[in-house]
Order: sequence, then C-alpha cells, then structure tokens
Amino acid sequence: MNHQDLPGLYVGGRYRDGAASERYEVLDPATGEVISSRTEASVDDVDDAVATAKAAYAQWSTTSPGERSTVLTRWAAELTEMSDDLASTETRQTGKPIKLSTEFDVPGSIDNVSFFAGAARNLEGKASGEYSPDHTSSIRREPVGVIGSISPWNYPLQMAAWKILPAVAAGNTIVLKPAEITPLTSLLFAEAATRAGLPDGVVNVITGRGATTGASLVSHRDVSMVSFTGSTPVGRQIAAAAAGKRLHLELGGKAPFVVFDDADLEAAINGAVAGALINSGQDCTAATRAYVQRPLFDDFVAGVASLMDTVRLGDPSDPGTDMGPLVSRRQQQHVAGFVDRARDTGAKIVRGGAVPGGDLASGFYYEPTLVVGADQSSEIVQREIFGPVLVVLPFENDADGIALANDTDFGLAASAWTRDLYRAQTASRDIAAGCVWINDHIPIISEMPHGGYKASGYGKDMSTYSLDEYTNVKHVMSDITGTARKDWHRTVFG
Ligand code: NAD
Repeated sequence: MNHQDLPGLYVGGRYRDGAASERYEVLDPATGEVISSRTEASVDDVDDAVATAKAAYAQWSTTSPGERSTVLTRWAAELTEMSDDLASTETRQTGKPIKLSTEFDVPGSIDNVSFFAGAARNLEGKASGEYSPDHTSSIRREPVGVIGSISPWNYPLQMAAWKILPAVAAGNTIVLKPAEITPLTSLLFAEAATRAGLPDGVVNVITGRGATTGASLVSHRDVSMVSFTGSTPVGRQIAAAAAGKRLHLELGGKAPFVVFDDADLEAAINGAVAGALINSGQDCTAATRAYVQRPLFDDFVAGVASLMDTVRLGDPSDPGTDMGPLVSRRQQQHVAGFVDRARDTGAKIVRGGAVPGGDLASGFYYEPTLVVGADQSSEIVQREIFGPVLVVLPFENDADGIALANDTDFGLAASAWTRDLYRAQTASRDIAAGCVWINDHIPIISEMPHGGYKASGYGKDMSTYSLDEYTNVKHVMSDITGTARKDWHRTVFG
C-alpha cells in the first residue's frame, strides 16, 4: 500500500477507514498538491478505539516491566529497518528538509523508544520501609488506564514517540490522534509496534480534525488521562473539556536567546540562525527573541543577516536544502501577518519578510526573516509566530537581559550565551523556563525532561520524569506482626 493511501485508523492492530462522512486532506507543503484525502474517525470510531484500548489494558497493565522492555526493544529495531521510509514520509507530509528528517526526527524517535525500553524497568518508589511501629510501607507505581493523546504537526513522528512511549512503558494503553494535516508517520509508527509483537489494542491511532475527532477523544468517559501537545489556546479548551481527568499539557513557546557582551559572537550567530530556522521555525523551543547586550548588538545583527543569506531554501526532498516550506498555507499567512504588521508599526525587516515567488510560489514557503526595532510589548515579541522569524532587541545590563527574557507569558525554553561561569549560572537560575541551554540552543535528549513553565504548560515529556505523568503512586501499609490492631479500641479511644 502506498503510504499516502493508508486508511485513517489503526485500531486493535489493524487498519481501517474512519466512518465519518467528513473528509480531510493531507497536502504536500512543497507544492500544495493533495497527497491523500480520507474520512475522519466518527464518534463511534472513537468509542471503538477507546473500548479496544480498555480491553487491551486488562492484560497489558499486568505485564512485567521486563516483558514490556523486550517488546519495546524489538519495536526500536523495526523502526530502524524502516528509517528511510519514515524519513521520506515525514518530509513529504510536513515539508521539512530530508536531512532534518533523516538526522533528527527519525533517529530521535527511535532513541526515545530505546530509552523507554530501559526506563520501563526503572519504575521506582521514593521510599519503602517501617515508619510506624509494627507496620511496613511500600510504594506501588500503577498505570493510569487508557490515555487519550493529541499531537501537533510540527514533529509528528517525534510527538507520537513522546506521547506513546512513556505511557505504554508504564503499562497504560493509548489512543493517539495526530494532527489531521500530518497523520501518516504516526500510523506507520503504530503499525511497526504490531510487527514488533506489541499486543493488539495497546497503541491505537485515529485521525481526524481537532474540533470533531479530537474533542470526542478528550472528553470520552473511559479515557483516564489526556496528554496534549499543541498550542496554548487549544490546550485551554482541552483542559476544560477534560475536566476531572488527569492532564498533561505541552503548549506553546517563545524562547529567548540572551547574548551577553562576553559571548563567543560567532558561536552565538550560528546558534541563533540554526535555532530560529530549524524546521522553518515551527519548533516550540525555536529561538524567536534574541536579546543582545549593547556592545555586541550591531555585529550580531550583521552576522545573522549575512548567515541567513547562505540558507538554502527549497525542495525539502533535496539533501542540500536547509529550510523547506511551512506546513500549510494557513501557517504561511499566519507568519506573513505577523511580519507585515511589525513592518507597518515601525519595525525594520533586515532580511526576508516575504513569500518567495518563482519555482517556490506554489508551495508554502516563507523567507528566513530578521527583524529589529520592534517594541518589547509588540505582538511579534510577545506571541508565538511559529515561523522562520528572529527578532533581535538590545539590552544594557545583565538584570535587564534576564528581565526581558522573562517578559512573556511563555516559559518553555531559553538560552544564555556567555563565557563567564557566574553569568551562565545566574541566567540558568533566573530564567523561568523548563530548559535553559548555555552556549547552545535546541538540542534535546531522551534522558532529560522537556516541558514548560507558565503558559507553556505543565508535566514533562521524555526522561524518567515523564513516567510520573503516566503512573499513579499508591502507598500500601501493612501490619507486619498481626498484633497492631488487636487492641485498637484502647489506641484510638485511650
Ligand atoms: P494546535 O493546538 O492547533 O493543534 C494540536 C492538536 O490539537 C491537533 O492534533 C489538533 O487537531 C488538535 N485539536 C485542535 N482543537 C482541538 C479540540 N478542541 N479538541 C481536541 N483536539 C483539538 O497546534 P498545532 O498548530 O498543531 O501545533 C503547533 C503548536 O504546538 C504550537 O503552539 C507549538 O508551540 C506547540 N508545540 C508544543 C510542544 C511542546 O513540547 N511544548 C511541542 C510541539 C509543538
């Protein structure tokens, strides 16, 4: 089967079509052509997927960590076998450069599976022992139940891995709804699990739009926990719809990039361009606001501008391409709107700021864009753009730089650039974000947690911290002598 013709549901270890009459389309962002069109999961399909996951939970939740680890290890091997296919499908549906899919998305996802194969055996309680005379206490780490998960379109394969792996490693079962414009690799990811021997129904993928299929999933009565990655406004809607359930929200970002006056300028310029333009800036941790201490400001802007001139924008299937299109026409218009309004209100567009024409006109491209002269309070500095746009602002002293970095609603990630140990340590303490890089921006690793402060959400993806999200902690306390409550009436009533 051509991947573009994959049916929209992978439930109980089998593909099938969604039963809703509404259709949705997957487009190639590089050309605007329709890759596939499918019917979305209906309310009955959502019911069926959740019931399938619930039935599988009865058995999967009782497997030993070692058994789960064995299957996950085989799953990583299956995914490794299909690496090229996963990379080309990811590039086709998102428009991201093939070298990014090949070197980052696919190996990162496989590493996540391998990590959780190990972490499955590492569920631990903080303490067990005797804390009361004649009693011993122990901790049980129990799965939560059926997880309903919703993921975004910017890193579809990695987001599927981040959502699915800690859930199933901890003994839960899951129904994942990927973004409707990029569903293909999540389906392939689940199919590989079946080939690896994961029991049917442990991982299920349903596709469709957020307001219909997604809304039915997050409010389903048999979904015990909702795990969401996406925008802050949709996160708020989901939090309301899932009231009463356990909730994990990974939301938007607006990462600051703080360059102190002793920084290695060349490294900072390279870090800013890579950090701002990776995945066409459609990255929740992308460098979006560079604050540069006054003595370095002009050289930094000039260096970023000339490095942006070397970025090869074009066909994402070409291994030489650095930056592909945005994911959709809507996203392209969204980004263009921010830049146009900034220009109209007096900011200077040093590079880019336009939709390219010529061969690229039919795709959803936008030029690498550098903006100076924007106000700290303006929307281009405060709101998430999710495009290849870097705004650079000056600051005078260290305290100002940190205060500006903290001056948005978001708090997902940040970076500080300095050769001074004390400045680096102070910045890592004082910047309110779930991750602070020192002299780097963007790298993530399976062993370390990813998650936000403030309006960027709560809860952690990746690392053993994420297992906390997907487990209940139960205290079991036992009388170890058989006599502890023999004279209970005297103990209680004196
Ligand atoms: P989005 O919020 O528009 O959509 C995300 C998902 O939610 C999609 O699958 C969509 O179909 C679904 N959805 C929409 N409305 C829904 C509803 N009412 N009920 C249930 N599901 C619904 O986000 P997007 O545009 O796909 O992705 C970009 C956003 O994701 C950015 O804000 C980005 O910062 C964020 N993001 C965050 C992280 C993180 O780790 N914090 C990682 C990647 C992306």
